[in-house]
Amino acid sequence: MPRTAVSTLVSPVPRAADSDRRRTSASVVLRSVLEHGPVARSTIARLTGLSPASVTEHCARLTELGLIRESAQPRRSGGVGRPHLPVDLDDTGFLVGGVHVAVPYTTVALLDLRGRVVARRELKHERTDPGWVLARAAEGLSGLLAGVPGRRPLGVGVAVGGWVDRETGSVVEHELLGWREVPVREVLGARTGLPVHVDGHARALVNGERLFGRARGSGSVLHLFVGNVVDAAFATHDEVHHGPRSAAGAIAHLPVPGGSEPCPCSRTGCLQVELSERTLCRRARAAGVIGSANPMHVVAAAAAGDAVARRLLVERSRATGRAAGLLLDVLNPETVVVTEVGVIHFEDCLSALREAVGTHRAAAVLPTSFPDSVLAVAAGSVLLDVLFRDPLDVSPEDI
Ligand SMILES: [Zn+2]
Repeated sequence: MPRTAVSTLVSPVPRAADSDRRRTSASVVLRSVLEHGPVARSTIARLTGLSPASVTEHCARLTELGLIRESAQPRRSGGVGRPHLPVDLDDTGFLVGGVHVAVPYTTVALLDLRGRVVARRELKHERTDPGWVLARAAEGLSGLLAGVPGRRPLGVGVAVGGWVDRETGSVVEHELLGWREVPVREVLGARTGLPVHVDGHARALVNGERLFGRARGSGSVLHLFVGNVVDAAFATHDEVHHGPRSAAGAIAHLPVPGGSEPCPCSRTGCLQVELSERTLCRRARAAGVIGSANPMHVVAAAAAGDAVARRLLVERSRATGRAAGLLLDVLNPETVVVTEVGVIHFEDCLSALREAVGTHRAAAVLPTSFPDSVLAVAAGSVLLDVLFRDPLDVSPEDI
């Protein structure tokens, strides 16, 4: 809506507030379409408390940007007047890229606006220096994009374990990769020519769960990731806690009750060394269950009826539950989402975890909503979170 020169002169402060409000309303409308689409504009107005005129205006703008479209099935109200066309996300045009850097490999992926994985590839790390890893990631993304002609990327989300500073788009420190002060946003932005956003993957996963998963609508969510890296993230309503330099969630050296693994930090029984997939695989090799360093081989052995493999996985889930219990004491979240390989595949692992957390709060403990695509969703969610927070910032002219 154009503003008059007079109001610009007289009220510069409300003008800034107006623009903030407009951005917030656009975000609220887009979130409502994500959660309820296909949905009538009148329903969006009712759900969000925005005026019908404002919803119509935002829908027009979001349609223009290519983020939403009118749904194919018109709903006639009483057979008079214009057909009532509900709106829905436009999942045919834009995509987002995702790059998840794990210790042994990088996952590159393309996701649609609903957070669904459209294409994905795993790139094994022959080297782990940042230049090599990020160059392969850019090549991988461009290969995936070549396979979906006509789809346009809005940008790239990058999720990495360790300590990630979202503001500067850099990895401050990742012990296992040996990365220090790596300007990921800059490097990948230059290689892809796209806007790049970077975050720690536990926080990225909280955003994935909040936007597209089971934690949608939850007042507070704790996400606990247990892979080779072990980390946590916490969100209340729509805000993920970062803390200064995004250092929140570093729980690698939290002591696990009953832990016995020596940690590089010189203590014993630290969370990460106790629960890491490397430790699981080493124990499984020592027990003669597997001959590899691949945790999925332990899962396969357990699924095939190997009792020792199953016991190792259940014990690990139980230890994860004890760690989650410590975090719950501090944070008291409504929902806890756990991404851990045993919990994803076996009901008795989930039971052991819930039991260790404490039965009085077990109902709130859920496995990841993305068992088959957790790393790709984490990465794409970094960019999708930015999009759903400020859709008006996304302009095709900028791409
Ligand atoms: Zn330690």
